[in-house]
Amino acid sequence: MTTAGLPVERVRVAVVGGGPSGLTAAAALARRVDGEVRVIEREDAAGGIPRHSAHPGYGVRDLHRFVSGPAYARRLVAAAGDSGATVHTQAQVTGWDGDRRLVVTSPRGRHVVEADAVVLATGARERPRAARWIPGDRPEGVYTTGELQNLVHLHHAPAGRRAVVVGAELVSWSAVLTLREAGCRTVAMTCGRDRPEAHLAVTWAGRLALRPRLLTRTRVVRISGRDRVESVLVEDVDTGTRTLVPCDTVVLTGDWVPDHELARSGGVGLDRATLGPAVDSSLRTSATGVYAVGNLLHPVDTADGAALDGRHVAAGVLAHLAGVGAPPVTVELVAAAPFRWVTPQRLLLGIEPPRGHLLLWPEAYQRLPVVRAVQDGRVLARHRLSWPAAPGRVFRVPAGLVASANPHGGPVELGLERDAR
Ligand SMILES: Cc1cc2nc3c(=O)[nH]c(=O)nc-3n(C[C@H](O)[C@H](O)[C@H](O)COP(=O)(O)OP(=O)(O)OC[C@H]3O[C@@H](n4cnc5c(N)ncnc54)[C@H](O)[C@@H]3O)c2cc1C
Repeated sequence: MTTAGLPVERVRVAVVGGGPSGLTAAAALARRVDGEVRVIEREDAAGGIPRHSAHPGYGVRDLHRFVSGPAYARRLVAAAGDSGATVHTQAQVTGWDGDRRLVVTSPRGRHVVEADAVVLATGARERPRAARWIPGDRPEGVYTTGELQNLVHLHHAPAGRRAVVVGAELVSWSAVLTLREAGCRTVAMTCGRDRPEAHLAVTWAGRLALRPRLLTRTRVVRISGRDRVESVLVEDVDTGTRTLVPCDTVVLTGDWVPDHELARSGGVGLDRATLGPAVDSSLRTSATGVYAVGNLLHPVDTADGAALDGRHVAAGVLAHLAGVGAPPVTVELVAAAPFRWVTPQRLLLGIEPPRGHLLLWPEAYQRLPVVRAVQDGRVLARHRLSWPAAPGRVFRVPAGLVASANPHGGPVELGLERDAR
């Protein structure tokens, strides 16, 4: 579609996405940038996922508070406004019209926003049913957690009486709480692994208070129902035994994919493992003046982690606006089994990643893991960490692990010692 003749609005920095990461980036930048810092958000209100995630658990590391999602979202929106950023809602970025020129579609029509720097903060989403290849009928009553929370908290609509939650990670328990609020009992939770992915304390508390049947090492092989869901068929992955669970609601939780369409269509280089933009430790992408933050980079982290990316990115954006080139790359990072991905993927000389941590995604559980960095066949360092490497949550490793890497050497591989427990 042509963009010729569209009105052009010039801003200094455009932030795409008004969730925790985008709002925090805007707040950090607006005070220090001469010119407009504009957040562009497609929803009616900014705030991102926390806006419709009504339970407490937000704001610990960034605001040093423990508040509900909506309260957290309100604080971040207010902070962005107070710092002088503008927030345009009901405005979706639907394409590019050249370098750092964004095509924005809103109820007022289309226009182009031209910026000196762009921060992509478009978040991540849970894979819907079609992408999970769950066979069966196509009745009403199948949601992702995001859809469920939208339905219940924003539209105050009913959510059935008996639910099966597919997944057993933190977000799965968030879904169970939302279902309870809507008067729907979670009769079973399924999980493909030996143990639920949520922290032990959360699983225990959840099982004690909400009493769902926890079906580990299972997968859903069929959803049945004419108009509304009537049952799901759950298969034991070891024995193949199948159990029919009657229910009228299915919630598909976790299994995240970054909202990367905009980055991809703009020619931004993506990491093949995270599926989000590949970035360096200043959160710079492969496109000049285009940065990325939050769950777009690490699907899915907690909101405070995403927000702190927003704070971190400001230094790189300010340097770019001042015409200062980025320092040279010291090392490339790659994930080795049991890690699926690592971010950032490149370290810059003298620039630590956000909070001095490398983020990794484990595919297997280890209680006291020893992380190992290897470059050109040589072990650079080993660190025993006092927190577990657990599937279904981001694993943080101090960036000091790779401090002794040879800047002229090959990529540094991050993995686990096999004998650690
Ligand atoms: C059910 C659930 C429960 C959770 N519970 C907790 C919890 O208790 N504590 C916690 O810390 N974290 C929790 N999280 C995780 C937390 O919500 C996320 O880590 C956080 O929201 C990520 O922030 P973000 O800014 O990266 O992305 P998001 O919050 O997803 O924000 C992205 C924003 O970008 C907008 N957007 C996307 N594309 C475009 C476009 N093209 N144009 C304009 N706008 C666009 C979206 O509308 C959205 O508002 C939970 C997540 C879920 C799903």
